[in-house]
Amino acid sequence: MKIAIAGSGALGCGFGYLMHKAGNEVTLIDQWPAHIDAINSKGLTVDFNGEKGTEMIPAVYPEDVKGEFDLVFTFTKSMQLASMLEKIQPILGEDTKVVCLLNGLGHRQTLMQYVKEENILMGTTVWTAGIDAPGEVHFMGKGPVELQNIHPSGEAAAKEVVALLTDAKLNGVYSDNVLFSIWRKACVNGTLNVLCSILDCNIEEFSKTENSREMMTAIIEEFSLAAKTEGVELDVTETVDYLVEVNKTVGPHYPSMHQDLIQNKRPTEVDYLNGAVAKMAEEHNFEAPTCQIITDLIHAKEDLFGIK
Ligand code: NAD
Repeated sequence: MKIAIAGSGALGCGFGYLMHKAGNEVTLIDQWPAHIDAINSKGLTVDFNGEKGTEMIPAVYPEDVKGEFDLVFTFTKSMQLASMLEKIQPILGEDTKVVCLLNGLGHRQTLMQYVKEENILMGTTVWTAGIDAPGEVHFMGKGPVELQNIHPSGEAAAKEVVALLTDAKLNGVYSDNVLFSIWRKACVNGTLNVLCSILDCNIEEFSKTENSREMMTAIIEEFSLAAKTEGVELDVTETVDYLVEVNKTVGPHYPSMHQDLIQNKRPTEVDYLNGAVAKMAEEHNFEAPTCQIITDLIHAKEDLFGIK
């Protein structure tokens, strides 16, 4: 299959590498010159669960990609999604399926501005990845990738992509309620990511603080009100119990927002997590003061670090 990875950072390179190794014709699309140059000159090197390999896979800027593709995976950061979709319009044909596995909320609405609803597949993944150097990525875990069509006519295509992912060792799973999974994942990121970043601690350290459960509950109560506006029921106590379990299993790990903001001084996806909930509160007439102050605190930290 002819596959484009629109946004070939850590996760995009991991997915692209494994789908290329499974025999697909993969093109990596990205905007970071050093990364593109490294991939085109030395190949893409991926440490996949401790096993290193290098593959020659073409890497191009969005403006330079040619021809129509069967399948496009978006793997930008949330704030880059709209601009990437706008730039890659020429490669989206009548039947090109577009998969979105980004963390955060509101991506379905963004995709629908650029892609026919019938062609949109939404999902979540628990694979983890990081960039070690331009052209060099580590990719870890065992998945899965949960995926579902957002229009009933897309079910067969979604199942085909699930099979393709499994064939590429990416462990695809067809979901019958992907919206719930997306909200559930946003609950993890909208509590652990933001609180560990504000407190500058890892998940184990956070879980040992006296009021960790109360802080998570205050946030999840607001996420639950926002989810309801999209027809998703999030039980607050059950969700917080789930987060406590996540805290126990993850241990002394720094969440990705901590790695981006505190360790690497990069912009965060907070506007697509707590910020999205605060915005939905304004639009749908409910209160979300905790999500608003958390969003403001993360942006204040970005300002203090001079991050644009
Ligand atoms: P990433 O930061 O690795 O890449 C995103 C974009 O930023 C890419 O275009 C990349 O080239 C660019 N970039 C990265 N480092 C750069 C640098 N130093 N200079 C210039 N440009 C740079 O993003 P990701 O971790 O692959 O995440 C993509 C999406 O997937 C996000 O929504 C994220 O929340 C989600 N996600 C990530 C993981 C993970 O473990 N990485 C897991 C699940 C979901």
